[in-house]
Amino acid sequence: MDLRRCAINSITVPSLTLPHLLTALSGRGIPALAPWRDLIAPYGAVTAGRMIRDAGLSISSLCRGGMFTATDATMRRAAIEDNRRAIEEADELGTDVLVLVCGPVVDRDPDGSRTMIHDGIEAILPYAREAGIRLGIEPLHPMMAADRSAVTSLGEAVDLRAAIDDPALGVIVDLYHVWWEDGLADQICRAAGHILGLHISDWVVPIQGQLSSRGMIGDGVIDIAGVTEQVLAQEYDGFVEVEILSDHWWSQTPEHTLDVIRDRFQQL
Ligand code: ZN
Repeated sequence: MDLRRCAINSITVPSLTLPHLLTALSGRGIPALAPWRDLIAPYGAVTAGRMIRDAGLSISSLCRGGMFTATDATMRRAAIEDNRRAIEEADELGTDVLVLVCGPVVDRDPDGSRTMIHDGIEAILPYAREAGIRLGIEPLHPMMAADRSAVTSLGEAVDLRAAIDDPALGVIVDLYHVWWEDGLADQICRAAGHILGLHISDWVVPIQGQLSSRGMIGDGVIDIAGVTEQVLAQEYDGFVEVEILSDHWWSQTPEHTLDVIRDRFQQL
């Protein structure tokens, strides 16, 4: 794939500060960055956005808002406030997409938790619309239902988007989370026009832990090229974001990790 489509999610090389990351990306011809909020926090969103643009890079999205589920109403209100701040940061940073990791099952109640997520998204949508920010629901693999997201399939994310049906709401397709899904191609078609991000990494057997054993592009079982092609065929013209949370790759030098990503991306 053309490197001009490539974005790097900052969690892929977490040891780099923002200035070092910008130098590393621009030196490799990688044109875009998806920062996590903690990466830009030391500089403030306005300054960080200027630094990224001054380096000649684009911003594919800000990672992340969400986490709407909580056992009591005070905590759920705090989550809404935090999402308001995340929307402001996205606006100040100069991106128009905020990724939502929606929050885990709480109170041993998956359906009730999904209702909290629905209500939480509805509560922050007015702020997103006002700021011109689009919210991308990112479904996570079901193994993360108890600690990160009760929304566990692309089909479910598309249903949730359709139930709320707001132009500022879309979905994120992260192949690590949805590659296994029955009828994935159909769900990608259903998401057409509402796909706000495409995240790629690979699933290498056996996984060593649910959070940080993602594989390098091409090392695992996911048909990354095939599914990417399906997404690009659905009016998705954004970046293809490489997001590899991996103890193995975090133990390598970030320069080496980025070199391998660049090569593998171009081989896709
Ligand atoms: Zn992702």
